[in-house]
Amino acid sequence: MRIIRPVVYLLPLTLLLACKPATESTETATATAEQAPAASALPVRYSAIDLANLGDAEAMTTLCEQENQSMREHFAVLEGFTGVATINGYYKSLDSLNSSLGNMSFAAQSLAAVHPDPDFRTAAEACAQLLSEIGTDLSLSRPIYDAVSSLDTANEDQATKHSVEKAILGFRLAGVDKDEATRARIRELNKELVTLGQTFDRNIRDDVRTLELDSVDQLAGLPEDYIAAHQPGEDGKIRVTTQYPDLFPFITYSESDELRKELLTLRGNRAYPANKEVLESLMAKRYELAQLVGFNNYAELITADKMVGSPKRVSDFLAELKEYTAEANDRDYNMLLERLRQDSPDAERVEAWQSTYVAEKVRSEKFQVDSKEIRQYFNYDNSRDGILTMIQDLFQIQIRPWETATWHEDVEAYELVQDDKVLGRFYLDMHPRDGKFGHAAMFPFVNGIEDVQLPVAGLICNFPSGTDLMQHSQVITFLHEFGHLIHWMFAGHQPWSNVSGIATEWDFVEAPSQMLEEWVWDYDTVSRFARNADGEPIPEDLLNKMIAARDFGLGAGTRRQLSLAAMSLNIYNQDPASVDLDEMVPRMSREYTHYEPIPGTHFYTNFGHLNGYSAIYYTYQWSKAIATDMFTRFEEQGLRNVEVAGAYRDIVLAGGGTRPAAELVTEFLGRDISFKPYADRLSGKK
Ligand SMILES: [Zn+2]
Repeated sequence: MRIIRPVVYLLPLTLLLACKPATESTETATATAEQAPAASALPVRYSAIDLANLGDAEAMTTLCEQENQSMREHFAVLEGFTGVATINGYYKSLDSLNSSLGNMSFAAQSLAAVHPDPDFRTAAEACAQLLSEIGTDLSLSRPIYDAVSSLDTANEDQATKHSVEKAILGFRLAGVDKDEATRARIRELNKELVTLGQTFDRNIRDDVRTLELDSVDQLAGLPEDYIAAHQPGEDGKIRVTTQYPDLFPFITYSESDELRKELLTLRGNRAYPANKEVLESLMAKRYELAQLVGFNNYAELITADKMVGSPKRVSDFLAELKEYTAEANDRDYNMLLERLRQDSPDAERVEAWQSTYVAEKVRSEKFQVDSKEIRQYFNYDNSRDGILTMIQDLFQIQIRPWETATWHEDVEAYELVQDDKVLGRFYLDMHPRDGKFGHAAMFPFVNGIEDVQLPVAGLICNFPSGTDLMQHSQVITFLHEFGHLIHWMFAGHQPWSNVSGIATEWDFVEAPSQMLEEWVWDYDTVSRFARNADGEPIPEDLLNKMIAARDFGLGAGTRRQLSLAAMSLNIYNQDPASVDLDEMVPRMSREYTHYEPIPGTHFYTNFGHLNGYSAIYYTYQWSKAIATDMFTRFEEQGLRNVEVAGAYRDIVLAGGGTRPAAELVTEFLGRDISFKPYADRLSGKK
């Protein structure tokens, strides 16, 4: 449930809290017209990638090399410029280079994750790697940094001022002010980090493991549609993979403790042992990088431009949430233990492979919520149509098919229209297939720039297809990713690439997505699309029971999230030489949850966020606290209130990265941000 943040793009465009540009306007203002080439001599070029006609792997490589060549030439002109840098001249030229770099990199990184041809994926990965070097070189270019620092923004608008400030901070966090030898080492490290990160992700993506069953009896407890979809192969074996559509129902319903344990053991060992070494190298190189730039460790560097500002604030935040969830965590666990003991009176504890299964029993018996009964109302097609309709109604827009070719026949394409104007375009690539990214995420394809290019994005998920049934949790994931998508669409209309699109502080990014999840609990919304095979809508009584059962598991679930956030932070907030992953990762689990890691598993080799999010997995909880606060306005004024939704759309989403996120939220709420609503929810006060 993440948004993919391409590494390349972040380097020159790291975000900002507050930083004054070091202006040298007195000096540059005296430059004569003869010394300064006209602004019009500077290239302004936006590369357009035709995703519908990319061709094969070879064509991808050729295109990438051509783009790389053009960008290198563009880069050389900017580095060699000796005149007076202006916003409409120099900065516009630099921004068009950044946008072009984004366009090609986004396409490469996204297609590396979804393209059906393995050779194409390899070519796309190589392309992303090649372009990342331009990103690094840009972020470490003294001449470009000096030119940007000399810009006079006194008479510019807010978005432009903020854009320039962010760019300058990005340069500084990249290490632009270090000596040449240090910058050379930083360049080398960044290159190695891209390769390591790609390897880490690929090892997880490509390692799908399979549980082989000898007879249909071993599917006891699973829903009929699941059993029907898992017929024995020619060798008589039934195969259950570690992919989500197979995994979730199995760990929820299988009556066999042993088989659930076996499947989860397979899942917990994906990319092991390969990724242990990869992760250790990532940690060591990120640590070295942070020290070269002037920080004590990587967590300090990566939090410097976030809302939190420091690792200390992160650990304080995790400690606060630990306290709020203390009671609920124990209560949730004890309910499971009590229920487990009905079947196994001698059970001393609930094991990790039992928790989902027993929780399902508690839900169905204590709260009369049976997820099999719920599933029948959420087939994929209905859910997709329902979500698209809800988004159209709420945000007063139209979503219509977009006629274009895609990389696979399963992929659907749409465009989003507001007041007869196309606002952006998106792909839905929603079902699993071999070699495809196995999680759920929004992948950017084009960052929108006002009057230049429209935003394009893709939701890449792994849901059942057609009239196959979804788990309720998958419908929540669908909404979550759609929250990212509309953020990308509405925010993609600002004048500069580093303030347009989801260019806000990274620890705010998960707020719009998590807030949108709330609508799946609204009967007025859900009843419009949740229908079973006979066309009957979900009964209100059933949804009410689901709402009553909703808080069950919130304490334990939040603690699980806190344990992941603590792992992510502690892996990067110290000298990696002192970190023993096999000791530390299980310890974090014990510190926050009642569960022991499954013996012999190595979660850190398949916890994908340890690459892309590094130290900042806390962002989900931080954003959740803000999402809960933003949602109070909808709770007060109505979930289907189009005025509130319109204000949210125009202020928070469309604002993009033109102002700090806290300012956008404060304007929307009409008061300062408060974490109290989230604390109240976690501690059961509301
Ligand atoms: Zn997300």
